[in-house]
Amino acid sequence: MNKERDYYKATRLAVAAVNSPSPLKDRLAAIVRSVARSMKSGASLILLDSTRSKLIHSSSRGLPQFYLRKGVLDADKSLYEVLTGQPVTIADAGNDSRIQYPAMAAKAGIASILGVPIMCGGGAVGSIRVYTRERCDFSSQDIAFVITMANLAAVALNSDPFRQKTEEVDTLESSIPVEASALRRSRSVTFAHPSEEYFARILDFYNIEWVYEPRSFPLRWNGDTVTEMFTPDFYLPGLDLYIELTTLRQSLVTHKNRKLRRLKELHPEVKITLLYKNDYDRLLAKYGCGPLAQTRAHGISRVLYSATEIEDRVRALAGQISSDYASRRPLMVGVQRGFICFMADLIRQITIPVDIDFMAISYYSGDSDSTVRITKDIDLSVVGRHVIMVEDIVDTGITLSYILNHLQAGGPASLAVCTLLDRRARRLADVRLDYVGFEVPDEFVVGYGLDYREEYRNLPFIGIPTLEKSSKKEISPQKD
Ligand code: 5GP
Ligand code: MG
Repeated sequence: MNKERDYYKATRLAVAAVNSPSPLKDRLAAIVRSVARSMKSGASLILLDSTRSKLIHSSSRGLPQFYLRKGVLDADKSLYEVLTGQPVTIADAGNDSRIQYPAMAAKAGIASILGVPIMCGGGAVGSIRVYTRERCDFSSQDIAFVITMANLAAVALNSDPFRQKTEEVDTLESSIPVEASALRRSRSVTFAHPSEEYFARILDFYNIEWVYEPRSFPLRWNGDTVTEMFTPDFYLPGLDLYIELTTLRQSLVTHKNRKLRRLKELHPEVKITLLYKNDYDRLLAKYGCGPLAQTRAHGISRVLYSATEIEDRVRALAGQISSDYASRRPLMVGVQRGFICFMADLIRQITIPVDIDFMAISYYSGDSDSTVRITKDIDLSVVGRHVIMVEDIVDTGITLSYILNHLQAGGPASLAVCTLLDRRARRLADVRLDYVGFEVPDEFVVGYGLDYREEYRNLPFIGIPTLEKSSKKEISPQKD
């Protein structure tokens, strides 16, 4: 039979591709190609992010761009049963509640859909989907073929070197929840601009999953034709956040701002942040790269909070903590080294018994695979404890959310955050702060434990340093 021969040939090609030394992304694309060709259909490979709430198209064949860019799929709205491990067939895609965007399917000329789970380690990590133009009741032979291809995709994902690497890490690191998700591992991207590549490396460094330009939002139409579109640079499924980088001239920034406003009008539910050149440079500087990493501070230009103001505020926070935790013995955890003054003053004003511990993380980013590391974990056990994270400053919130995930994995009874400073204007990761000393303006601050290149930690107040460019061009890894 013809079909049998086609399926055999497709399987042979896909097996050869999976067994080749090509990058994972290419091997997965070869599987999708084989499915599409032999079934004379469109096909896509969709992977779950590590929060298991979003589905991202990783590879596709024979589907129009607008269909692929229709949006990030919600795992619980789009062919939900597939993720429980069952193949699903949808005969009439334009009219089925299991399809998240039925109108888009109709516009793309999709009549029927078959979804088959990709199973890794006993659970679904994604699916292969087949889209036909003509209405199709998929036969058991069709389904068995796609299951074979999904199994091949699982073999490819399992044999990826990145996964092996995470299994080799030593005991300290293996206690850190390394998110070697299928989505992260299946990526090889061509960026339009080097700044985007740097940014992606920072996200990798923090194990934050990202997808490059996954979605285009139509902004204006002329009748049925879209006349203006906006495609944000990044989507971070874990934070459900789109990010647009602007390292461009002011005139272009104004244009982008206008687009962004329009997007917010049309889609108030979409979370999107515009990162300006300055925000971006500051992010890079944390890792010792970019223009700001080469500046030097020359004294303090302004005092933001005097020693007395800080003392009053710390006493108030300590009072609140003492009463909130009256019958419990909290474990207060700080991260080296900025927390030192705050923690020391805070615990001396707390009137109930407490335990303290601290951890250290390194911000080293050498090769492209490096990730944030906990170089010193806490010594005390958090199991069943009421943990309070003590932070100097929460800026993007990325560090804190990483650490909170780590502590949460240890099984505490509760986990709260107490930060002296909160720079809400620059938040990317949504973290809940239970105790906040001051909400600081969008300027870099030093003193009272906070440094600028290891200077100014021992100032008794918090102030804004005068930063000047130095001629030094070295790019050095930095530690917090
Ligand atoms: P996040 O991950 O929230 O962006 O970064 C938090 C860490 O960055 C803080 O713990 C602190 O070490 C550093 N940081 C952020 N903003 C400032 C600042 O204005 N001054 C100093 N000295 N460090 C900061
Ligand atoms: Mg810190």
